[in-house]
This record gives sequence, structure tokens and C-alpha cells, in this order.
Amino acid sequence: MFENTMKVEFLSKSQNESFARVAVAAFISQLDPTIEELADVKTAVSEAVTNSIIHGYGDNIGFITIEVKILGNEIEIKIKDKGVGIKDIDKAMEPLFTSRPDLERSGMGFTVMETFMDKLEVLSDEEDGTTILMKKKFKSLEG
Ligand code: ATP
Ligand code: MG
Repeated sequence: MFENTMKVEFLSKSQNESFARVAVAAFISQLDPTIEELADVKTAVSEAVTNSIIHGYGDNIGFITIEVKILGNEIEIKIKDKGVGIKDIDKAMEPLFTSRPDLERSGMGFTVMETFMDKLEVLSDEEDGTTILMKKKFKSLEG
């Protein structure tokens, strides 16, 4: 089975949102995804990185790490921050829940990630911060 991995680390500045999106897209382009598959992944990565910047680190600046694994025609994306963490993960993942209505957030980030990817897992606590694990299977390399 074809396997490949990449890892990038960058500061939680909003200027790096597009960098993160493009870096992941460039790496997974070796799977020859459709335009739609690529757009789905970029959107999901954007949502997760934005969350780390806004909610995880807030007024602080810290590192965000993205690790992408290719396993055959499936990708696994891990997005990690060492920010404040999420107290109630189930609640945070409910559509329309936001802890920051003051910032005009709509509370749809996790729902978007769930919709555009095949699998979403959220690991978080107040000591280690938050890790988002997402998987998606591409059609491109199937028969
Ligand atoms: P939107 O994404 O629509 O702008 P939102 O960011 O509030 O709004 P979600 O992305 O669904 O909505 O996240 C829901 C809630 O989960 C957030 O309001 C925040 O409280 C919490 N959260 C999400 N990601 C993190 C993170 N990396 N660190 C700390 N808290 C987080
Ligand atoms: Mg969000």
C-alpha cells in the first residue's frame, strides 16, 4: 500500500490559515483528488486551524501542528494545539454551539468538518490542548 507522511508547525496567527490550507492541499494532490475532494479537505482544515487560533490560543500565540498521513487512497489529518482545551466536547460539537457569540461565530465549525470529511474525532483537555483527527477516503485511486 502507498504510504506517505508530512508534518508542519506554524504560529497561531490568522495569516497562517491560508498557509495551512494550501500546505495540506499541496501534499495530498499526489493522490490526484477531484476539485471537490480538495475543496472539502481545505474547508475542514480551515475550520480546525481557525478554532485553534481563536479558541485554543485566543490572545496568546502558540504552535499549531498539522500531520497528514496518506494510506492508500485514504488521508488522515491531525491538527493539534496546546491551547486552553475544551471542557465539554459533546456540547462543543453540537451544531450552532459557540462559546464566542461575541465574536459573531456561528458554532458550525465542527459540523462543517463532520460534513466534509468521513470521520472526525476530537481529543481535548485543559492540560494538553486540543487534537482534531479527521479521515477521508478519496475516490481517485479506486479501480
Ligand atoms: P464557527 O466555527 O462557526 O465560526 P465556533 O468556532 O464557535 O464558530 P465550532 O468550530 O463548531 O464553532 O466550535 C465550537 C466550540 O468548540 C467553540 O465555540 C469553542 O468553545 C470550542 N472549541 C473548538 N475548537 C477549539 C480549540 N481548538 N480549543 C478550544 N476550544 C475549542
Ligand atoms: Mg470554529
